[in-house]
This record gives sequence, structure tokens and C-alpha cells, in this order.
Amino acid sequence: MSTRGTTNANVRGSSTSRAARRRWLVTTYRADVDLHPEHGMYPVPLGEGTPACRCYRCGKLLTVESVTADRIKPGCQGGTYVRTNIRPACLTCNSVTGGATRSARTYIRRKVGDRVGQVVLVEYLGIQGRNAYWRCVCDCGAEMRVQSGQLRTVRSCASSACKAKAA
Ligand SMILES: [Zn+2]
Ligand SMILES: [Zn+2]
Repeated sequence: MSTRGTTNANVRGSSTSRAARRRWLVTTYRADVDLHPEHGMYPVPLGEGTPACRCYRCGKLLTVESVTADRIKPGCQGGTYVRTNIRPACLTCNSVTGGATRSARTYIRRKVGDRVGQVVLVEYLGIQGRNAYWRCVCDCGAEMRVQSGQLRTVRSCASSACKAKAA
């Protein structure tokens, strides 16, 4: 099954509609500061520079030039660039989630409080390489950092008692 190639020009629209979409993202998700392009995109008080919004994942400030539209429901699941389905993302976060493996994408969408076996997800740690990481706590209290794709098989901390319960 090959559904990765859905981010083509037809799906994204013309360059004019893409520019309009980026302006809409910055206006709708406007940050509490602006960016000053003459000072290396340094944050300045609102109204004193170029309007900016924040990447939904890493919080990086983005202008109309640097923002990209991330589809909340991804293209491989039929998500389009309709405005109720997009949010601002930096290029790094957008391409990382787009290129992430299926299992990583699944775990990106997991929420704090979700349980897998003996383990509860307490904090999303972000993406490194092609994997999402979570800080998790086992029912025994042990903390661990779990790679997205391993979450399904980890299910508990390393103690044999917990492993037995999670099996
Ligand atoms: Zn980002
Ligand atoms: Zn445990």
C-alpha cells in the first residue's frame, strides 16, 4: 500500500491557495510576539515586527514564509487541507511526522494518560530520528523513556513481576 505520495500539488492546491493558507494559519494562530527579520528572526513585542504563529509541536515561531500546514487527520487517512483540519507546523516537525513510520504516527497521536499494559504515558518527549518518545510510568512507580514503536511490546518496566502482570 503506497499512500505517501498524497502531498502533491493537486492535494495542496495552487501556489496562490497555499500562500493564502499560510496567511490564514499565522492570522488564526497568531503568537503573543512578532518576529524581527532584521535581527535574525528575533522575537519582538506584538505589532513591532512580522506576524508569527507557533509550531503546534515544538513551539517554534513561524512567519507566513516559514509556516507549513500540518494536517491533523493525515493524508493517508483521507485528511485534506480544509481549514478545520490544519494547524501550523515548522518544516522539521511537519516532515518528521509525515515521514515517520506508521507505528510512530500512531504513538504521536497517543495522549497523556493513555495506558499500554502496566504503563501509563505521562509526557510526550518529542521525535528523534523517525521515532516518537514518551516518558512513561509503570504501575510499580518505575519511570522510563519508551520509543514509540516499542511501546506495544514493552508494556511494563524491566522487573519480572511487572512483566508477568503485563503479559
Ligand atoms: Zn516544530
Ligand atoms: Zn514496574
